[in-house]
Amino acid sequence: MNKKIYIYANDSETSKRTKKQLKQKLDNSGFVLLPKYTEKADLLVCIGGDGTFLEAIHKFDFPTMPIIGINTGHLGFFQEIMPSMLDDFIFYYTQGRYSIQQLSTVKVRITTDIGTAEHVGLNEVLLKGNSTYSIHLNISIGGSFIERFSGDGLLIATPAGSTAYNYSLGGSIVDPRLKLLQVTPIAPMNTTAYRSFTSSILLPSDLSLGVVPDMNEEKNKLCVVYDGTTAEYENIKEIEVSFSDIHVNLMRFENYDFWTKVKSKFL
Ligand code: NAP
Repeated sequence: MNKKIYIYANDSETSKRTKKQLKQKLDNSGFVLLPKYTEKADLLVCIGGDGTFLEAIHKFDFPTMPIIGINTGHLGFFQEIMPSMLDDFIFYYTQGRYSIQQLSTVKVRITTDIGTAEHVGLNEVLLKGNSTYSIHLNISIGGSFIERFSGDGLLIATPAGSTAYNYSLGGSIVDPRLKLLQVTPIAPMNTTAYRSFTSSILLPSDLSLGVVPDMNEEKNKLCVVYDGTTAEYENIKEIEVSFSDIHVNLMRFENYDFWTKVKSKFL
């Protein structure tokens, strides 16, 4: 077994201990342990919680090889195994008894008066103000004007991200086999002065969301947050949020079932 493996871990004592144990076990089983991350790795092992998993995905610019997560964090939704299962993991991996869960991502493109920027999120993209004032956004779907949104912000979640911030905002949990984006308003104003959708809306993968800020006094300033990382933009002309063709390949073992995982983490 000369497969090349790179292990990424956070700084917690449990993660460091798990990494040491795993290195020893993989070494004894004939795997090649890479000292540095490279795209040529056959497998990326990520030790930590979901936050560490997201950090690794962004740090390594959305790796294309399979990724397995070992949960030493709190929730561990992306993480497939526990530190006590290292021998099982090596056994199943060696035997090829696993499947790949392909997770879709969301892309945001921001056009300002000085150029265009792009970010990708595995969980979500969040558009919000950079102050306590409400924001006003002209929203179009597939090029057709839909509403002038007023409120705190909009969260556009992937199915994989539906169990994260999206869920806390009252959005629906979505099976990752579905190819869609979920747009959830954050504190939408729905009065005679302002009219906004108050529930989530679901978009198919071939429709994008167009957003034109309508807040001249604020210089059209917005925070664009992707998987927890914030970028601030001003003098925004247009924002487009769409389904991305980048995927993350999560390794899952024989008994993995999305809805069983949802039940074990939420109920
Ligand atoms: P964090 O604020 O330190 O952690 C947020 C929590 O979300 C952690 O418990 C994390 O799990 C969990 N989480 C992350 N992705 C998840 C997923 N796909 N399904 C279920 N739970 C998930 O921030 P972070 O660790 O850097 O993670 C960034 C994410 O935090 C963002 O993408 C956003 O979705 C989420 N967030 C949630 C809220 C909220 O619910 N009110 C607010 C801000 C951000 P672990 O404990 O395993 O790390």
